[in-house]
Amino acid sequence: MRNYLKHYINGEWVESTGNETEDVINPATEEVIGTISLGTKEDLDKAVQAARDAFPSFSQTSKEERIKMLENIAAEYENRKEEIIETITEELGSPKSISENVHYMMGYNHFSQAAESLRDFSFIEDRGGHTVMKDSVGVSGLITPWNFPTNQISTKIASAFAAGSPVVAKPAELTPFAAIILTEIFDKVGVPKGAFNLVNGSGSVIGDGISSHPDIDFVSFTGSGAVGQKIMQNASERIANVALELGGKSPLVVLEDADVEKAARAAVSHIATNSGQVCSAATRVLVPSSMKDSFEEAVKKVLPEFPVGDPQGDNHIGPLVSKKQWDTVQSYIEKGQEEGATLLVGGTGKPEGLDKGYYAKPTVFTDVNNDMVIAQEEIFGPVTCLITYDTVEEAIEISNDVKYGLAGYVFGEDEQTLAKVASSIRAGRVKINDAEADFAAPFGGYKQSGIGREWGDYGIEEYLEVKTVLGYPKL
Ligand code: NDP
Repeated sequence: MRNYLKHYINGEWVESTGNETEDVINPATEEVIGTISLGTKEDLDKAVQAARDAFPSFSQTSKEERIKMLENIAAEYENRKEEIIETITEELGSPKSISENVHYMMGYNHFSQAAESLRDFSFIEDRGGHTVMKDSVGVSGLITPWNFPTNQISTKIASAFAAGSPVVAKPAELTPFAAIILTEIFDKVGVPKGAFNLVNGSGSVIGDGISSHPDIDFVSFTGSGAVGQKIMQNASERIANVALELGGKSPLVVLEDADVEKAARAAVSHIATNSGQVCSAATRVLVPSSMKDSFEEAVKKVLPEFPVGDPQGDNHIGPLVSKKQWDTVQSYIEKGQEEGATLLVGGTGKPEGLDKGYYAKPTVFTDVNNDMVIAQEEIFGPVTCLITYDTVEEAIEISNDVKYGLAGYVFGEDEQTLAKVASSIRAGRVKINDAEADFAAPFGGYKQSGIGREWGDYGIEEYLEVKTVLGYPKL
């Protein structure tokens, strides 16, 4: 049992000023695995004050000091590897291989990449003989969701630290333990007092408190569009800047000359990895009408490569994070059937033999029309839609006919067509075939997928203000 009843404020673990606690459930066993304290507005105020007090000195630390700090964090993170993997598997239900190769790996890369990006980063530059300086934005409030317990919080903290911005962070109640390990890491490597503060608690109290706090200068949020909107509204009261990383309904365009099996494997992998609880997952697969039958056959053929089951075992798909998420996914599968889409594989209910745990069946709908609810709304589970098209222009039009714009994927051979589709998709990140991710490249969305960019130097820019000084002495 992991009982974490304290918050981390001003370099110390402190008691909560309230008595409320929340149990954390392992979604694979439905058993309680620990408890956290739910912070109060008073706890939050103390954390914000600590961050404000840290600002004058933390924002003036040298680039070299911050690089060293980020490198030390990355090294200590590596020392805690096994524990991080085990914790994410327990709290999120993510299979061990995914906890290691996706979750652990992403957290590590954000800290080491921030150090790397900082090395070449210029906080002062010349513009037409005048000087442009980049200053820390002030105190940052970070609100993160449950689907990537180390990725989102790590990219935000790494960028804030690189920019010299003290932080107040609130992870999701469903998966709070990975953030506690991160806090222990910052404590161990000697992050200056007040530069990092962690207040556990509910979105409605601590999350809302962060977005409306008069002494928080910048809010970075990852989560649902509905909460993103509230955060923007709250921040607008004091004209505070926000970065929002919201949902997606990304297209995967299969071109006529694509390797059908490779594309089908990628399509299934998008809904299998992290049980499809991924904002950038491709959940609309656009297939040429002429390839419909062969693509459907390929999907059925590759599906057994992604077994569902105990995350402690050798499986690829674990449970969904909660009963609530399981119910949401079930209702979308029902909705798809009501709307007239055809179930190619999967459906409602739990996979055979998995009665305990929030497991859902990997589900692929075919004969989907892009106007259907299942093609327009983010389901956040192992569910995808096959949509047919006749021309590349039509594929582009369908790709963009959605309120989101987080990511896009294209499979094919002809370079001109690949380039045309990739450059026409209105999204913040487009991946051609199986191109490798790069942590220096920016991540973020167009349209209702968000505002701002994370990762690498683009991520650092979010935590900076720009000051022009005309006539600055040439020192
Ligand atoms: P939320 O947007 O509610 O939660 C994300 C974070 O915001 C959590 O830390 C949550 O706290 C916090 N929060 C909740 N309410 C507020 C508020 N009023 N002010 C400030 N912060 C708040 O997502 P859900 O967990 O409810 O998931 C619902 C859907 O959102 C998913 O099905 C998916 O479609 C989408 N989503 C998208 C993500 C992405 O990566 N873009 C990530 C997660 C979800 P707490 O939960 O602790 O109360």
